Amino acid sequence: MTSSVLDRFRGRVAQRVLVKEPLAPYTSFHIGGPAEYFYMPRGEEDLICALRAAKSLGMPATILGNGTNVLISDRGIQGLVVRLVETSLSPVLENGLVLVRAPIPLSVLLNFAMERDLAGLEYLVSIPGTVGGAIYMNAGSFSQAISTHLAYVEVLERDLTYATRRHEDIDFDYRYSEFQEDGAVILGAAFELEHGDGATIRSTAERIRSEKRAKQSWEHPNAGSIFSNPPTTFAGKLIEEAGCKGLQVGQAQVSMKHANFIVNLGGATAQDVVQLMDVVVHRVYARFNIRLSPEIRLLGDFS
Ligand SMILES: Cc1cc2nc3c(=O)[nH]c(=O)nc-3n(C[C@H](O)[C@H](O)[C@H](O)COP(=O)(O)OP(=O)(O)OC[C@H]3O[C@@H](n4cnc5c(N)ncnc54)[C@H](O)[C@@H]3O)c2cc1C
Repeated sequence: MTSSVLDRFRGRVAQRVLVKEPLAPYTSFHIGGPAEYFYMPRGEEDLICALRAAKSLGMPATILGNGTNVLISDRGIQGLVVRLVETSLSPVLENGLVLVRAPIPLSVLLNFAMERDLAGLEYLVSIPGTVGGAIYMNAGSFSQAISTHLAYVEVLERDLTYATRRHEDIDFDYRYSEFQEDGAVILGAAFELEHGDGATIRSTAERIRSEKRAKQSWEHPNAGSIFSNPPTTFAGKLIEEAGCKGLQVGQAQVSMKHANFIVNLGGATAQDVVQLMDVVVHRVYARFNIRLSPEIRLLGDFS
């Protein structure tokens, strides 16, 4: 991009656009090369302005939430990377619905619901992403998913027009939402939650939190579960039984604690992780004739 085009771009979004910003610090894996251009909007008008500018310049745009379910290429990401995380906003309760903006951390939504004895989101405890990232991934645990209690989702369509999609019109499945196909940006959502018994809600959340703490790896940077569970079993069980726990490529290691986690022992590259994932896929396939597919999203150039 020539400097005059860059100036035009900077002028349009009115705030600082970072050039060649390393992305590793914005991910829970602590892995990833630079964004060609990096932008953290302050509000939705700002976001739309940036996306419009990128579109008019023919520049691809990638949305990043809290970076807890991504593996970013060592070569980084071409075009504009927009990081949507906002910790100063709070959900609001309106006409029986909890309204929340996409960049808000899930933990904020969860606390908001629990403080008002609203039940249904307890299983999202300890998922370190944003509301937008969680809807995109249809995140959840213990056979529950965030989509269950959604009333509607507000999006910016690929052509940058606003739309509201009702829950019943959105295709959701296990760790799948139609947003993974159509490139819409999730702006916000409304949840319909039932009043419940506060003590029960809090004790359920606490039980899930401690079960996760006991099972998952928190000592080293990671991106949660690497592979989706196949329909009838757990990916972690297959990986462990295929003898992959502790396998290492470079500084990436199959966690000794939870076999479906890959941990960054310090300085792991995306290439290390991808090679390790390949080894795991081959070993599991050779042993069980089941091909694991990644749950994490690979962003950038992996060719
Ligand atoms: C220790 C640990 C434990 C975890 N436990 C769980 C668990 O129990 N259950 C579970 O489901 N997941 C779990 N995860 C994975 C992860 O936290 C979730 O998938 C989370 O919802 C991702 O949100 P994020 O904001 O970090 O998204 P990111 O990782 O930043 O992005 C994920 C994808 O969503 C897209 N995206 C993000 N925001 C938007 C938006 N506003 N509009 C459109 N696209 C968007 C990105 O482009 C990317 O493709 C865990 C991760 C870690 C590190």
